[in-house]
Amino acid sequence: MGNINNYDFKGKKAIVRVDFNVPLDENGKITDDTRIRGALPTLKKILDEGGSLIIMSHMGKPKGKVNAKYSLSQIREDVAKALGTDVKFEPDCAKAHQAAADLKPGEVLLLENLRFYPEEEGKPVGIEKTDEGYKEAAEEMKKRQKEFAKILAGYADVYVNDAFGTAHRKHASTAVIADYFAAEDKMLGLLMEKEVKAVDAILKDIKRPFTAIMGGAKVSTKIGIIENLMDKVDNLILCGGMTFTFMKAQGGKIGNSICEDDKLQLALDLMAKAKDKGVNLVLATDCVAADAFSNDANTQVCPANDIPDGWEGMDAGPDSILKFREAILPAKTILWNGPAGVFEMEKFTRGSKAIAEAIAEATEAGAFSLVGGGDSVACVNKFGLADSVSYVSTGGGALLEAIEGKTLPGVAAVG
Ligand code: AMP
Repeated sequence: MGNINNYDFKGKKAIVRVDFNVPLDENGKITDDTRIRGALPTLKKILDEGGSLIIMSHMGKPKGKVNAKYSLSQIREDVAKALGTDVKFEPDCAKAHQAAADLKPGEVLLLENLRFYPEEEGKPVGIEKTDEGYKEAAEEMKKRQKEFAKILAGYADVYVNDAFGTAHRKHASTAVIADYFAAEDKMLGLLMEKEVKAVDAILKDIKRPFTAIMGGAKVSTKIGIIENLMDKVDNLILCGGMTFTFMKAQGGKIGNSICEDDKLQLALDLMAKAKDKGVNLVLATDCVAADAFSNDANTQVCPANDIPDGWEGMDAGPDSILKFREAILPAKTILWNGPAGVFEMEKFTRGSKAIAEAIAEATEAGAFSLVGGGDSVACVNKFGLADSVSYVSTGGGALLEAIEGKTLPGVAAVG
């Protein structure tokens, strides 16, 4: 495969898949431009080296139909400002031949939202999996997806995938398109390279001890990751709402706390597995309980396995926080996914904040720390600690699938 670091972009047209799926307010103004900033190193490198750019992305979920609400024309000026150069816009991403052919070195063309075409995602529209004829419709759509990818590929000499956020999807622009480029003319972008390296640091080049912190609401959404991590970590902190499934499974009293009653056996199995593998499993000992799911609720600290009726565990308690710190501070590799409490409410931020601070301290002392998955990224941002960890991943689902040990189609296609 090609390598963006030594590829000669001079005079070449590069089609770059980025993740410009940025949040917009009701006036179409960007509220968080992290994703645009994330793609800049790749885009600027190509321009600086004498190439021209065809930028493509999706935005939102227009479900294969043109929808002005999701038009990338809304962010054209922001992209131009970020790149410091004019950006042309092509309102039909499948009809950009002429605009692409006309591009001169240093020029930039932004294509309209790829997902205005159902071919991008490659799923048949208007028919359910259970409907008669679905199989034929799916096959037909796969053919159309290839044709669509071929059209996109036809605009350029070289393909760069820098959209980590969608790397776990086998879409026309993220994977299928790569089939239409020679091996040396397709490659990962700089952001993708960084993400892949960060995942390798926690899955392959592990420096010990390795502490993983998994939090969030449910254990069911994290099973694959927890199981994959069991073979790799020294310490595994399981916190947040899933705590109470573990407490109940062991016969604890959890009041109104969030709990997955059909996952009690799974919780016990995971505990047994940890013991088997010599993993130090750290669960909360105490919690901050509330008498309502509200920031105005009354609170009390109580054992995580002895919560009074009518109360629910909302955050880690002080003793749990100490135990979490003990497992985090000596670590040389750290992964954090999912908050330790209902951090969206001020009263219940302490556990998540303590974790973020301990990770920052360990990082300062030389650990490699990776924070990823929507809510933990929101946590480090909220506590102003994003710059105090080694790497904040831009990919939610893609990061989680990579940590589960799955091959990401967007990486495999070019990596
Ligand atoms: P997830 O998407 O699974 O990572 O879960 C993130 C959500 O878990 C956040 O919105 C938190 O508010 C929520 N959460 C964390 N701890 C608790 C808890 N003890 N009770 C209810 N929800 C929680």
